[in-house]
Amino acid sequence: MNFELLVATNNDHKLKEIRQILSPHHITVYGMKDLNINIGEVVEDGKTYYENALIKAKALQQVTKMPIIADDSGLEILALNNKPGLHSARFAKECGGHLEAFKVLDKELEGLDRSARFMCDIVLVNVEDKPLLFEGIVPGRIGHEPDGTTGFGYDPVFICDELNKSYASLSEEEKNRVSHRGKALKKLLTYLKINGYAS
Ligand code: IMP
Repeated sequence: MNFELLVATNNDHKLKEIRQILSPHHITVYGMKDLNINIGEVVEDGKTYYENALIKAKALQQVTKMPIIADDSGLEILALNNKPGLHSARFAKECGGHLEAFKVLDKELEGLDRSARFMCDIVLVNVEDKPLLFEGIVPGRIGHEPDGTTGFGYDPVFICDELNKSYASLSEEEKNRVSHRGKALKKLLTYLKINGYAS
C-alpha cells in the first residue's frame, strides 16, 4: 500500500524534487493543487526555518488529517551575516528576481569571503502527536557569475563544495543527491522506512 503525503507548497520545482526522491519508495506525493486545496497566503513570520515550516504545516492541518510535510529553506552568506537567509524568497522578489538579487549580493560581497550554505528544514505533521523535524545543510560558495540553466531560484549562483559545481549545472539526480532539500528528504525517508510507512 502507498503512503500518501501532502506537501505544503505551490512551488512546482520543489514538488518535482520531492517526488523524485520519495515516489520510488511507495510514497504518493500530492501538491496542494492536486487536491484542490487553497489556503490563501500564509504569513511566514517565524524566526527560524523550523518555525516557518511549522506555520505552513499547521495551516494545512486546518483542512486535512492526512500526513503533511512543509519545508522552509534559504541561502545564507556567511560574510553578510547569513543574508538573505530566512528572507531568501522575499529578498529576490524585492530585487525583481533572483538574478537581480545576485547582482545586489555580489556588490555587497566585493572583497569579502564568498562562503555560503543552503539550509532546509522539513516538518512532518499528522503522523505522530508532535511535529518531526528533518534538516539538510549544504556548504558551498557564491559564484562570481551565474552558471547553468537547470533548477530554480539561486541555483545558478550557488556552488556546492561536494561537487564544486553550481546547483544549476547539475542534473536533477545530482542535485537531489547533494542538495539541502535532498539531504533533509533522505532523513525523512529513513524515518518513514524505519516506521513501516515506506519501503
Ligand atoms: P521557501 O522555502 O519556499 O520559503 O523559499 C525559500 C527561497 O530560498 C526560495 O524562494 C529560493 O529563493 C531559495 N531556495 C530554496 N531552495 C532553493 C533551491 O534548491 N535552489 C535555489 N534557491 C532555493
